[in-house]
Amino acid sequence: MGQLRIVVLLIPNIQQARWLTAYAGARAGIACPTSASRTYNQGNRMSPSCQSKARLHDLRSRLLGWYDQHRRPLPWRQNCDPYRVWVSEIMLQQTRVAAVRLRYEAFLKQFPCLRALAGASEASVLAAWSGLGYYRRARNLHAAAKLVLHQRQGKFPQGSDEWRELPGIGRYTAAAIASIAFQEPIAVVDGNVERVLARLLADSVRGEKLWQVAQEFLDPKRPGDFNQGLMELGATICLPIEPRCPECPLRRFCHSRGTRQRTKRSLPRSRREIAYSLVRKGNAILLLQRAKTESLMPGMWELPEVSVEEMGAPPLFTLAHAITVTDFKVRVVESTPARAGTWIRVGRLTGLPLTGLTKKILRRAQIID
Ligand code: SF4
Repeated sequence: MGQLRIVVLLIPNIQQARWLTAYAGARAGIACPTSASRTYNQGNRMSPSCQSKARLHDLRSRLLGWYDQHRRPLPWRQNCDPYRVWVSEIMLQQTRVAAVRLRYEAFLKQFPCLRALAGASEASVLAAWSGLGYYRRARNLHAAAKLVLHQRQGKFPQGSDEWRELPGIGRYTAAAIASIAFQEPIAVVDGNVERVLARLLADSVRGEKLWQVAQEFLDPKRPGDFNQGLMELGATICLPIEPRCPECPLRRFCHSRGTRQRTKRSLPRSRREIAYSLVRKGNAILLLQRAKTESLMPGMWELPEVSVEEMGAPPLFTLAHAITVTDFKVRVVESTPARAGTWIRVGRLTGLPLTGLTKKILRRAQIID
């Protein structure tokens, strides 16, 4: 009854009420009547609970059928190996698929298994993570790899509760890994899932209720694919600004079909100019290491920043760089910085944890590949 109340609270109109009430009935576990009881239930017509169960089944199979046919061939979808799934889920936290796609294969080539990652130095893990940002994730991934290897004898956790005990793994990531790699019937909720469910129900659901509703929809037979299917739908069809409803496999179940208020456009972007010094001495480059106590990119290496006002000579080149809501115009100059740095031989650069912007500048200057 409590479950029915949760669902009824979400219902703003009669049409939706019918569907969701029926859906709640199915969720309450009312079994489909046998053919004998079907006769009792008004001849050939199925009971409401059976109809709602069939409707939920239909929704799940449409989403899964669409996902089987239309999912993007992303490298981490080649198989359900827990190590590969885990690395991809950590990389995908707060990072766009396109950026992860570029780094994922190279990272796995360098650290092809748990043992390789656990045995690597932190500097080499951070260097391989360069360009993905949020380096705390790389440190946690490395710490978790050591923990699994040494304290769990290399055996990955299976259930989502156990995954959450590892560094850097929250509720979403634990559920994603456990459902994709181990088929645990547990739903995930991210921004895409929240948007798709809100549009399907024509109502906003938040917090714990949202997790409950996602769990109701989940297909327990293919939880990993269902979770990925719902997220894929949000990423490619039920888009934040312009949902592509005519192509949506769930349109017949959807109570908004694109009429629901669209997600607000992102915050206005700001612009800034910054300058970095690129000085060479023979076969070495002058770099600075950020303090280990820095909140952003601690311990990473970067080119020395110089004041735009004092840079004097015209820049060697200028490039664009974006971080969250700021677009930077980056000038690269040859002037000697005020702060003392460390001369690093060019051959050592690729093994060093460089900031993403430093890598970008060194590539542009054709110092690294
Ligand atoms: S029909 Fe449109 S609004 Fe509804 S889930 Fe599909 S894409 Fe989203």
